[in-house]
Amino acid sequence: MKEMFHSAALKLTTWYLLIIMVLSVGSSVALYHVSSSDLTRNARRQVIFFADQLEPEDFRDYTRLRQRQLNDDIANLRQNLLLFNIAVLIAGGAAAYALARRHLQPIEEALESQTRFAADASHELRTPLAAMQTEIEVALRNRGLTKAQAIGQLQSNLEEVGKLKTLSEGLLRLAQRSSEDITDSVAELKPVVKEAVARLKKAAAAKKISIDDRTNNMLIKGDPDSLNELVAILLDNAIKYSPAGSIVKVTSRKHGKLVLLSISDEGAGIPKVELPRIFERFYRADSSRSKQQAQGYGLGLAIAKKIAELHDGEIEVKSRSGKGSTFTLKLALVS
Ligand code: ADP
Repeated sequence: MKEMFHSAALKLTTWYLLIIMVLSVGSSVALYHVSSSDLTRNARRQVIFFADQLEPEDFRDYTRLRQRQLNDDIANLRQNLLLFNIAVLIAGGAAAYALARRHLQPIEEALESQTRFAADASHELRTPLAAMQTEIEVALRNRGLTKAQAIGQLQSNLEEVGKLKTLSEGLLRLAQRSSEDITDSVAELKPVVKEAVARLKKAAAAKKISIDDRTNNMLIKGDPDSLNELVAILLDNAIKYSPAGSIVKVTSRKHGKLVLLSISDEGAGIPKVELPRIFERFYRADSSRSKQQAQGYGLGLAIAKKIAELHDGEIEVKSRSGKGSTFTLKLALVS
């Protein structure tokens, strides 16, 4: 891909340079014609003027001298224009290449990120697919497969299909979000959080975790559905990565023109070295705790971050191993 963009940049440079050189050479040729005919006309006028004033012998010398001067002037003009065009060629080439790279860079970055996205996605999809393939192959080879075993097999396949569905839905949500969903919408913070809490009631109850929601009502800039999803992702994580019987706290406060919504848990926390990476797609903190105990594909925080960014907001995380984590969402208030 790098090669492709390099050769595209060179092609674009050639075209830019061609345009610059056509303009430069064209105007130089025109300038040469105008200036050389001016110089010739002046010389001729001077010669006519001195024709009556000088002796014929002196006049012949003067004419020769004037002709030599005129030739030198025209040669100088030609040389200066040539030098000017060489300078334009060098400077224009460098500028054209820089411009071409600048125009192509965002396209290159977008393509690179799409390729990475496709590679990551297919890598993640392969694991459940491979598990399913092996199970089905083993079952097919088993001639004495009983009905009960077949049902067990189908149940296990269904589980894998469920995982694939969750994963592909996550990928779709990540790919489909755009700022169009958000423009000019206004949301009420309290109902947004309340709805997200309601969505996660069952998961919290299953672990006997209580959600202490102390959100104040404020008007914020943003799309209620997207924000609801964002809060639900943070709550889901707080529940997933906390011990049974703990408390998840949701608080809000104003800070200048911003609202800070914090979701704190009493979970095992996130090691400092992992913190910069948890918002990456498919990244799961490499502790046995999160990988073994909680299901997920490492897409939640990537989706949350994308939603926050589409709102011109950000998510901050503070965490101490063994002491829990606090995710703080910063969003703009409606003034
Ligand atoms: P997933 O939860 O599917 O693994 P996320 O993108 O939501 O993916 O989170 C990425 C990783 O960040 C998780 O695997 C987990 O290790 C860590 N993490 C996120 N939220 C918390 C939390 N509240 N407490 C502890 N670890 C967390």
